[in-house]
Amino acid sequence: MFWRTCTACNGAGGAGCEVCGGDREPVFRCPASHHTPEIDAAFLAMDWAEAGVLPVAGGLLEQSASFVQFVSIVQAERAAIEREERARSERRKEMGHGRQ
Ligand SMILES: [Zn+2]
Repeated sequence: MFWRTCTACNGAGGAGCEVCGGDREPVFRCPASHHTPEIDAAFLAMDWAEAGVLPVAGGLLEQSASFVQFVSIVQAERAAIEREERARSERRKEMGHGRQ
């Protein structure tokens, strides 16, 4: 199981959201089951964009809206995962089990 930003409320639903209840949405399928050739290509393009090579010549406004949205979603999910890992690390430290 892994957690992602709620797809029903886009992370803004709070305790009233029936899917996430204000937390992140649990996903019970293997992440690999969501893999498609298109997603693989988008991640490859994102790797190149992070290295400074955009998929389409020009600036941000020349890129496809779907690619720009893909990058935004992946960056938001990565930031959420980093926040979760930091919080988990802090809890371990508070319990005296953290790495120093
Ligand atoms: Zn929700």
